[in-house]
Amino acid sequence: MVDLLEHQGKHLLREAGIAVPRGTLVSSPADAAHAAERLGGRVVCKAQVPAGRRGKAGAVQLVTSPAEAHDIATRLFGSDVGGHRVESLLVEEAVDIAAELYAAILNDPVSKGPLVLLSADGGMEIEEVSATRPERLHKLAVDIRTGLEPNAALTLVRRSALPTDVADPVAAALTRLYRVYRDTDASLVEVNPLVLTEAGDVVAIDAKVSIDTAAAPRQQHTLDTLPGVLPIEPGTDLEREAARLGLQFIELDGDVGVLANGAGLTMTTVDAISHFGGKPANFLEIGGDAYTKATPALRLVLSNPNVRSLLVNFCGAFARTDVMTEGVLNAIDELRPEIPIAFTIHGTGEREAIALVRDRLGITPHDQMDDAVRAAVTAARERQEVAS
Ligand code: GDP
Ligand code: MN
Repeated sequence: MVDLLEHQGKHLLREAGIAVPRGTLVSSPADAAHAAERLGGRVVCKAQVPAGRRGKAGAVQLVTSPAEAHDIATRLFGSDVGGHRVESLLVEEAVDIAAELYAAILNDPVSKGPLVLLSADGGMEIEEVSATRPERLHKLAVDIRTGLEPNAALTLVRRSALPTDVADPVAAALTRLYRVYRDTDASLVEVNPLVLTEAGDVVAIDAKVSIDTAAAPRQQHTLDTLPGVLPIEPGTDLEREAARLGLQFIELDGDVGVLANGAGLTMTTVDAISHFGGKPANFLEIGGDAYTKATPALRLVLSNPNVRSLLVNFCGAFARTDVMTEGVLNAIDELRPEIPIAFTIHGTGEREAIALVRDRLGITPHDQMDDAVRAAVTAARERQEVAS
């Protein structure tokens, strides 16, 4: 997941026809002062970090002169906000706020589709509204085949106790937000606050857009056209390294290392480890490229100091298991892991694969996957008992 910076999210919103304040991205106090001058003096200086609650942290400041913008910028640059170093500021003309709403489109695990959220109580933590006044948070599940239709958006707005004269523009903002969500493969598009101005306009004061990295290849153009530098993806160092290698890797808190091919088999393997009372140390999916990526993949798994045993589970249809196995055996030769390894191999090339494991490691892969899982779980447990 890439969590875009506010100004990058606003760039996408602006392109979709949603009003955002005029502003400039700056990287020095002098530029902040110039921007404030150009925008009329009364501006908001906002630290660009991929974190929320900047307002509470003092990283969103309303100022009334270029000199003041210079001072605030001097204080903010290089400071830490929510665990991130401030390297750029968005200087925007201040908006006269009449009301703050909350609007978001997100992936909803319950309806298994997009969910539109709208509340007249924006500007504060939406979790708090949801917990203390759930009746003030309005939700609408969207069918991706039809998208968010204008009438449905309008009905949602009418339920949320907003003044009737703003219903149309707020509904229009929602359908545009939905378009951003859809067109960028976002998992979240959140505007908090979506503001009603004294002049009667609907303006996005903040923007949080998270883009699913699985969609990065087809969103490359979108990502390339964004201003500024993309924030680093969240995750552990190992997970980011894996992503650079084109491997799907998630660190888990267990001790049984997992090497399997295909997402489905990997999930099954991870589940089977839990089923037999063990704890998986990672989710790592390697596919037909196991031959070329086995060494970095195994290095990732073994980099986790908690790993006490390794389970290799290959199942081949189009991908040949003997080719994958040879890659892993080469990796084992190179890295020489000092932990028990259990193999289970099925499908295309399994006879050759099994012979390879016997020849080169002197161990026999398990016929049944369950037996291999049990062996890996037991080995990890025994080593834990020895260690403690
Ligand atoms: P967050 O705290 O990281 O979510 O940052 P926001 O961009 O949401 O800003 C925090 C708060 O600052 C908002 O909820 C507003 O109340 C306030 N704020 C931001 N921009 C303006 C502005 O242009 N005018 C006014 N009056 N308040 C603003
Ligand atoms: Mn906000």
